[in-house]
Formats: sequence, C-alpha cells, structure tokens
Amino acid sequence: MPFLNELKHTLPNVKAYRLMQRLFKENPGLKDIIDTSNAISQAKKKLKTWALDILSENKEAYLYFTREKIGKTQLEKLRSKDYAAIRILDYIKHSGRQFKDLNLKGEIVENDPFAILMQCAHKGTSGGTPAYFYDMIHLFRQFSGHENSTPNKIEISIWMDRYSSGLDPEVVWQRGKNKLHILKIIIKIIDERRVKSKRYRFKKGTSSQKKLALAKIWWNDYKFHLKFAVRTPEALNEMLGYSLDREVMDNMKQAQKVGIPLFVNPYYLSLLDTHASPVSLGSDLAIRQYMLYSKELVHEFGNINAWEKEDIVEPGKPNAAGWIIPDICIHRRYPYVAILIPKSMGRACGGLCSICQRMYGFQHGDLSFDLENLKPRDSFDDHLETSLNYFENDSQLRDVLITGGDALMSTNKTLRKILQAVYKMAKRKRKANINRKDGEKYAQILRVRLGTRLPVYLPMRIQAGLVNILAEFKEKASKIGIQQFVFQTHFESPMEITPETKFSVSQLHKAGWIVTNQLVFTSAASRRGHTAKLRKVLNDIGIISYYSFTVKGYMENNHLFSPNARLVQEGMEEKIIGLLPDKFSPALRQLPLNVENIVDNISQLRTDADIPFLASDRNVLNLPGVGKSLTFRTIGITNDGRRILEFDHDATREHSPIIKKMGKVIIIESKSIHDYLQQIDDMGEDVIEYESIYGYSLSETESRNQIFEYPPYDYDVTKKITNLDHHLT
Ligand code: SF4
Repeated sequence: MPFLNELKHTLPNVKAYRLMQRLFKENPGLKDIIDTSNAISQAKKKLKTWALDILSENKEAYLYFTREKIGKTQLEKLRSKDYAAIRILDYIKHSGRQFKDLNLKGEIVENDPFAILMQCAHKGTSGGTPAYFYDMIHLFRQFSGHENSTPNKIEISIWMDRYSSGLDPEVVWQRGKNKLHILKIIIKIIDERRVKSKRYRFKKGTSSQKKLALAKIWWNDYKFHLKFAVRTPEALNEMLGYSLDREVMDNMKQAQKVGIPLFVNPYYLSLLDTHASPVSLGSDLAIRQYMLYSKELVHEFGNINAWEKEDIVEPGKPNAAGWIIPDICIHRRYPYVAILIPKSMGRACGGLCSICQRMYGFQHGDLSFDLENLKPRDSFDDHLETSLNYFENDSQLRDVLITGGDALMSTNKTLRKILQAVYKMAKRKRKANINRKDGEKYAQILRVRLGTRLPVYLPMRIQAGLVNILAEFKEKASKIGIQQFVFQTHFESPMEITPETKFSVSQLHKAGWIVTNQLVFTSAASRRGHTAKLRKVLNDIGIISYYSFTVKGYMENNHLFSPNARLVQEGMEEKIIGLLPDKFSPALRQLPLNVENIVDNISQLRTDADIPFLASDRNVLNLPGVGKSLTFRTIGITNDGRRILEFDHDATREHSPIIKKMGKVIIIESKSIHDYLQQIDDMGEDVIEYESIYGYSLSETESRNQIFEYPPYDYDVTKKITNLDHHLT
C-alpha cells in the first residue's frame, strides 16, 4: 500500500499543526489556494501558475527549470526565489512517484508534498511532522523573496578560530599527558600478560622507570600500536581514563554483541580529550564520531544494504557501470581510472572509521582485524599479475589507485613488490604502443596513487624504509612517463594533524609524492568553520584538499549524515574566503613539480592571494553506480521532512559510455534538515548561523581543479573502449 494512503489517517502532532498555521499566516496566498481547492489537482494547478509567474520574471531561470540550459554558470543566474519556484514546480511534477526507501528497509514512499499539506489543512490528518512543516515554511519564505545573508570573510574566520589544531602547543601538551596515561596502562597490560608479545615485554626485574622509558621508544614503532590496539569497550574506556558515559558504553557493548569490531590504536586514542577544557572544547568531536559507534549503526548492523553497486563483481559480467572486471581486486566506474585492491595486508586498515563502507563486509564476516590471517598468501602474486594485466590491456586506463583497506598496511616488502609490478606493467604498456599508429595507441599510465589513512591513524608507519621505496619508484617510473605520484589520505579534523603527522607527511614529500585529502562531511565535521580550519591546517603542512564527500549509506550512517544542502551551502560559502583567483592557477599547477618545497610554496601562494586556505576541493556525493556528483534537484519531501533528491551524473568529467542509460539517481536522505539542525544545536552550535541551509535545493557539480587533471599525451589515444559490455551502450 502506498505510504501516503496510510498517512491519510495519521494525526499530526500539536507542534506540526501549529507550524502549518504559521505557514498559512505567513503566506495568505498559499492558504487561499489550499482553502479554495476541492481537489489536490486543483491546488497544484494554481500553485504551478504561481511558481511559473515568478520564473517568468527571469528567463534564464525558466530555461534552467526546463533543462534547456544547465550547468554551473546557468545556475549562478538564478535568484533565491527562483530556487524556490523550481522546487515547487518539481514537487508538483514528481508528485505521485513512488520510491523504495532503503532507509526504511525498502518501504515504498509516495512523493506528494502538497497532498500532505492539503490533507492536514482539510482533514486534520496526513502525518506531516514538524520537520516537514519547517522545510515548507522556509520554502515559502524563499519563494516570497526573503533572502538569507551569506557569511563574510570575517565571520568565516571567526568560525574557523573556534577549532584548535593538533599542532597547538596546549593541545600537544595535553596529548603528552594522554600518552603517558596510556603507556602506564599498557605497561600494566604487559606485566599482567593480558597481551603476550615476544617483541614488547620486560625482562624480570626491570624497574618502573626503565619500563616507561622502553615503552616510550616503542611508541614510535607502528607495530606496537597495532599490537596494543583496544578491541573491547572496557579496554577503550580504561585507556580513556573512564571518561566515556554510561550511554556510550552501553552502546559500545551492544556494538560488540552484534559483532561490530572495535580496533583503536593507542596513538589515535591519545587524540581524544578526556576532560572538558576551554582550549579545545568540542574540537575532537569529529574524531569521536569516527571512533564511537552510533545507536543507528548498531541497530542496522547485519542488515546494511550495499551502497556501492559497482563493487559487486562477477567475473565475465559487466558491473553496474558496464565494465567487465577480472575479479574483486579491481573496482571501476570511470574509463580513465580503476582501483587496485591487492590481496595483501592492504585489505586491512589502521582502525575502523564508523562510516566505513567496509561495515558491509564486516557484517558478513568477509573482513576482520585478524592481522595475521590477512598476510599475503601464495595466490597473491597471481592475483596481482591478473589485476595489472587488466590495466595493461585496457585502452583507456591511465591512473592506478592502490588502496584497500589501506595501501600502507602492506609491509614494505609487499609494497615494493606491488609498485615494482605496477612499474613493469606501465613499461610494457608503453612498449606495446610503439607498434600502434597514432590514434590507435592505448592510454599509458600517467598517475599512481596510494590511498591511505595511516598518516592519521598511524603516522609512525611512515619511516625511512618506506620513503626509500617511494622515492626509488618515483625516480624509475618518471623515466617511463608516469608523471603524477599521489598519496590520497583522509583527515577529518584539524585535531588529527599532530607533530607526528606533520613529520610523516614531510617524509612523503621528501620522496617526491604529493599528498591530497578527502574528507567525509559528517555532522561533527559540518559545523561552521570546522572544515575550513581543517583545510587551513592541511595546507600548513603541505596537503592539498581534493574532495569533500556527503556521508554515504542509509540509516546505519544516519547519525553522521549531514544533508546535501549543507554540503552545497559549505561549498558555496567557503569559496568566499578560500577561492584562488584565476591568475594564480599557473602557480597552483606548479606545486606538484616541486614537492620538496610544497609547504613553503603553498604558504607563499596563500599570502599572495590573501586567502587562509586553498579551496581546491569540490564537494560531491558518491552515487551508487554513477560516481561522484553534486548535480541534483530537490524533487520531493517525505512526511517526516527528509528531502528526495534527483541526481544526475557529473557532466564535467569522462564517464562510462553507458552513463546516459543509467539515468538519474533518486536519493532519499536519511535525515531532515530540521533534525540535522537539532543535532547541531545539541553540539553547542547556534543554528541561526546555518539558517540559509534550507534554500540550497539545487546544485551543479563544480569542475575539478586543474591541479587534479591528467597531463596531456603527446599522441592521440584510441577512441576504442575495451573491457566494456558494448551491448549496454
Ligand atoms: S580509512 Fe577508509 S577504508 Fe579505512 S576504515 Fe576508514 S573509511 Fe574505512
């Protein structure tokens, strides 16, 4: 039965009804339409005429609505009230459509926003919640020309200053104390033989002082952190000085019961505050959200739906994007790049982020933190060869992204083997082109990337041995045409940037690799000024921001989810302070060519442009099957105020030829804007600062910053596309 039929009889609560009255009081024209219409079709007709009247004042907005003219430049021609008019028209156009809501275990949701309003006004039923009515109130405020101001540079700077960084001396000092506390507990654990290790143990009679001195040395060894990573809620709380409250502990125990692994290493644990202090109040919240599981995750674990459809691989059959893939070691969406997941320790990570899509694998027992079991098996070499043959024999692939898990969880020996295999493959691919004519040549490998969060989770992993391997690879690979050497990492908070991190990143730079960052725009990370501050501190240590992602998934990630409207708001408003004027583009493009001096050069660039950070990233949602995009229109809203978005692919980049056939993607968000604002309020935020969020109902994907583009070839690459199921095109 369609959802709305059930809702017809549902009594709204008092607050919802009062909000409806407020909506009508503010908008007598709307009240009149609803009061004088006998049927919903009549009301929609009148609303449509009203909205079209508004659009007729701005021809460019009308052309955008009809999709005759689209794109970012066209979107910029819209007035705020045009956004609202288009939303009203889209609500009407898409009403009656039914969607599977995977947040509600596949329940069918019927989209009919104005039917909810009319039913509530005429019959006093409809299930409209306060969240639904708040969204409607803001829609009609925007429609009647009420403008929300955008923040200025000074306001954004003040917001940024709210957050400490892990490089601030007071924070460093506090973490020194945390480290000492944790080390004393580990010494006790070793003494009581709760964790047995041949490497980390004390000889009989060792004094307490000597033990501490030894433990301090071990702290610089990443294997020590893997060995003593906490795996139970009790151990976690012990290391955190029993600072976790009962609710959190109950939830973590429940998480353990349902089978969600816990794996937090001592270094990462030392980043959490164990008492409130005015110096860094709330600054560690984004880390906390990543480490401590939400009630929603615990509830959904076991029934989490896969988000990444293209990750479902059946050898010989096309994946969701039409590519034929040899095995699960390759993930591919786009023609130019594929992900290589070596069957090595790379399947593991230095921790488990609560938003990790690998939760899907953990719930089926496909993954674990049994690090011994994850070591490479005999079949590793064969798999690696099969995977790399795929890159070699593909006409378009030019970019290898080695990840996992985490690329740096592989040992140096394994990593050297992987990079050597990549080098040989790239060499063979280049050689094979010699005998091909211009226009028939295959794309040669231009870029190699390593995806890792270890500069965040375990910066001590980055040691001289690894740096040598990376530098050697770069030197050799540069001679056969590979031009871009990139570490892709994942910082969420300026509090994750510590002196240890800074040093580890400088080592990667020393090896000649640039470091870029992708962040996930969680609710804690979405607080005003938080990501702007992160970008600044990343730039301070020479990291370039690449992507900001909306949290993927369904109800399991509800707690961490920030609505896409917030991501659009952030993207547009942060550019006020971080946009690099075009005249500096050549200097920006030079950065990767002189990696050893990247810290100074980024600093100089910011000084010259008078900006605190380079807003070099773009904000996107990783759509199932389709890939990254933030091109969407809000076409509906559920009775509980969750927006229904219709996404299109990102037209600014190359896609699988089947993209047009894949059509648009409907996303029903897992949280209403009202609920999001309440959550933010609970984090101590002033929701007034976020108010314009409701108006961001349309978006176009920004084009990729030039620094992330592939360098051109000095030959014409074939138009032939291999490894694609051409029947689908
Ligand atoms: S770093 Fe990435 S792969 Fe590793 S746990 Fe976090 S989200 Fe998952």
